[in-house]
Order: sequence, then C-alpha cells, then structure tokens
Amino acid sequence: TRTFFVGGNWKMNGSTAFIEDLSNSFTAASHVSKDTEVVIGAPYVYIPLLTKVLRKDWGVAAENCHSLASGAYTGEVSAEMLKDVGATWVILGHSERRSIFNESDEFVAEKVKKALSVGLKVILCCGELLEEREAGKTQEVVNRQLTAVVKAISESDWENVVIAYEPVWAIGTGKVATPEQAQEVHFEIREFLSHNVSAKVAKETRIIYGGSVTEKNCNEIGKKPDVDGFLVGGASLKPSFIDICNAIA
Ligand code: 13P
Repeated sequence: TRTFFVGGNWKMNGSTAFIEDLSNSFTAASHVSKDTEVVIGAPYVYIPLLTKVLRKDWGVAAENCHSLASGAYTGEVSAEMLKDVGATWVILGHSERRSIFNESDEFVAEKVKKALSVGLKVILCCGELLEEREAGKTQEVVNRQLTAVVKAISESDWENVVIAYEPVWAIGTGKVATPEQAQEVHFEIREFLSHNVSAKVAKETRIIYGGSVTEKNCNEIGKKPDVDGFLVGGASLKPSFIDICNAIA
C-alpha cells in the first residue's frame, strides 16, 4: 500500500515561459493516474510561479535548502523560506550537491532534519559512484549515506521521507540501471531500514529509482516489488513526463 511516487527534478533548467508552457501541457494531459503522487522540483526562484501554474494535484519541491533558519549565509535559502513561498517538498542529498558542492552525509542529514521540522516533506537521494559499484561497495556507500539521516531524525519522521536511489553512473548518462540492479539495491535499503529504524518504516517508506528514467524504460523498472516510483531528471522537462507518471497505471 505504498502510493506510487514520481518526482521530476528540473535541476538548473527552465524560464518563466518554459515553465508556464510545460505546466499547461501537464494540466491538459488527457489521462493522469490518480494512483500516483507527483512532485516537481524546480530552481528556487521559480517556486512561487510553479505553485501558481502547476496542476494543483501535484506537489512543488525545491532542490536544496540550508540546515539553518536564517543568518549570515550569503546566497543560501532556508527551509522556512521555501515553506513560506509555497513549496511542500525539498530534494536533499542529490549526488550533484554531494559531489559538485561537497555536501557531507552529516550536512545532508542536518538539512533533512531541518526541512522536516518546518513541515516540508523530503526526497532524500543516495547512490554510489561507478568506481564504488565496481569495487563492490554499493550497499556500504548507500548505508553510510542513510546512517547519517537515521541518526538525525526520529522514527515518525520517516512518514515524510521518500528515498531516491540514484546510482551516480546512471544520472544523465542514458545508462539506466537494469530493473534487477534497481530491485537489488532497493531491497537492501528496505533491509537496512528494517534493521536500523523499524519494520514499519521499512514496509511503508517509498523507495524510488532515479537515473536515466524515460517513458520507454519506466514500465519494466516500475514493476519491481521494491521500486515505488522514480525521480526523473531530463525526461521531466518534456510533456511526455506524463507517460512516466502513468507508468504503472
Ligand atoms: P536524469 O533522469 O537526467 O538521468 O537525472 C536523474 C536525476 O538526477 C534525478 O534527480
């Protein structure tokens, strides 16, 4: 009974005109599955616009936030501010934040804690680099990333967290994980939650897959028992994103 979840992550893309057009195409779609929860992540500056033009049955996410409420942190945006301008979700720990902006597991965990405390829901990203997979360290890396968050939040907080497993080698490469590869890691993440949080959290937490998901490959991956949806980058910038939202419909 985990509601299927599809997130779009627009990353640093878009403009006022583009976002209005794409949002209108989503609204005009003839069929959108009622059984899937959909959330779109956009650059901070477009969040107020998105809350106006996006379908009201979809959620609005930011793609990052700071761990503190306010202060001398030039250029940063707090969870409180996101909530204030209408975001309901925030994507945290994306591999691009971890690798390009050097965010540590602990900093990501602090952000998760803060976002939840102000009432935002969190899409928490995790995933291994190619060299880590090749060295047989996939689960070790994912568990390490998740352990920091397990330490920072309480069991009931997990109700408002969706975990996105995004192998870094699959992001923006067109090299999608096989359904079996995704299922294997998702299963292990559920085992991890069961041992380190609770059986209830393991059973109820949505674990979604990200990395080169398209309307063509989503159906096979989405059928796997521990895959509860997708986090979609490039393919969320097109009207055909609707087909991914309808993947299991
Ligand atoms: P792509 O779908 O473009 O590979 O990006 C995946 C991603 O990073 C979503 O957060």
